[in-house]
Amino acid sequence: MTTDNSKMPIVLIGNSFKYEIEATLKLFFNTARYSFGSDRSEASGDAYVVAEVSGDTLSAEVKLRGEAPVKRSITVDDTQDKEHEICRLIYHILSEKTGIAPPWGLMTGIRPVKKVIELMRRELPKDEIFARLRDKYEVTDKKLQLAYDTAVNQLPILDRIDSSAVSLYVSIPFCPTRCSYCSFVSHSMDSAVKLMPEYISALCRELEIIGKIVKDTDTKIDTIYFGGGTPTSVSAQELRAIMETVEKNFDLDKVREYSVEAGRPDTITEEKLHVIKELGAERISVNPQTLNDEVLKVIGRQHSGDDAVKAFELARKVGFKNINTDLIAGLPTESADSFRHTLDRMIELDPESITVHTLTIKRSANLFESGSANIKNPAAEMVDYSIPALMSHGYLPYYMYRQKNTVDNLENVGYAKKGFESYYNIFIMDETQTILGAGCAASTKLVYPDGKIERIHNYKFPYEYIRSFDKLMDKKEEVTECLRKIKSVQPK
Ligand code: SF4
Repeated sequence: MTTDNSKMPIVLIGNSFKYEIEATLKLFFNTARYSFGSDRSEASGDAYVVAEVSGDTLSAEVKLRGEAPVKRSITVDDTQDKEHEICRLIYHILSEKTGIAPPWGLMTGIRPVKKVIELMRRELPKDEIFARLRDKYEVTDKKLQLAYDTAVNQLPILDRIDSSAVSLYVSIPFCPTRCSYCSFVSHSMDSAVKLMPEYISALCRELEIIGKIVKDTDTKIDTIYFGGGTPTSVSAQELRAIMETVEKNFDLDKVREYSVEAGRPDTITEEKLHVIKELGAERISVNPQTLNDEVLKVIGRQHSGDDAVKAFELARKVGFKNINTDLIAGLPTESADSFRHTLDRMIELDPESITVHTLTIKRSANLFESGSANIKNPAAEMVDYSIPALMSHGYLPYYMYRQKNTVDNLENVGYAKKGFESYYNIFIMDETQTILGAGCAASTKLVYPDGKIERIHNYKFPYEYIRSFDKLMDKKEEVTECLRKIKSVQPK
């Protein structure tokens, strides 16, 4: 498979299992493109997959790299899920042909821990949980253990979720420069500077509107999260204006957690840290991603590893007692040794939480264009090192998610010292609490009492957000309605 524009044909006969079959192929060729058809004649070229369902017979034919196609069939009974079994058939052929054994097996969803928690809630013993997930998804024991450990730490927090309360997400989608692996909607400060006053005033207006809805419906705010981009890309005065708007329009007294993702060390100043602290946020992130200067240059960062350490120390000096640091395993040109050095140094600095992401290269990232998506990457070795290194220093895994196009199909894991787990990080993965988003590219997740979930997405780009602000605010009716419904099922 290549990453050029040629598409690998997937022919579906007698079924419409497009999504899961594509997800199975992506376990092996995560940056490839696919085309879909239903006619046998469309299976042509050097590589293709034919998946056929005929009654109880499932057949898969896989051709790769111009080699002779491999064809296999199985018969299933009524208790078996045809979609899952045909994916398993394809998975085995691909695994044999490529020599790749995906660590999460056939598990393609973004929330592996959710599956463990479902089984834990049914009070199944650990062995039984492992056996079921191993049988169904062929997950390796190493990953099952990680998902299980994460579930053990997450479950008591989930049990404390207040589904009558809501969280607030404030989006500041700007960064000093764009990192080569970035696939977020983040705008460099150079291009955004002219729009900034208008953006901040629109964001503050939206916060006032949300604040009024929250007040009118007598809703409690549980957590607040400033994310982006890099919220500290704006000036200390601008940050103050936004945070003061939050302070004025929301009752912060009952807020359990207030986080600001300071993120890029090159945006962190003592003045901004004082603003953050003074206006009520007690948790911040300082995200070096790596401390290796060469790698930082390659990914388009303008700061050094030393700058990241200094930003961390400054945050401590200002008085932050809850600091998270983000790292990425598998950055281009980073060696396993260099990652180990970064992780060991971060552990030495002793933040309250450390999040280890694995590099994900989406098509919208500059790195994808440069072809780095295909380079052999020691990410798995880095991740394998991080798990025992962090756990032996008291950092326990408490949330995890997986993304498509992640190197070696690995995962992102948040580790924290006991009592420093971020509620918000769990809430965005879970579907029990409403999250109200403010700002460009933010989204609102409305969780109705009957379990129905609706999402409202704000405009992606600052100019659209500013221009279409009134249209966007028309959608706030739905927010009011949802919060009223939540309120109506609460005991008086
Ligand atoms: S700091 Fe994050 S959001 Fe900003 S450009 Fe880099 S990856 Fe994207």
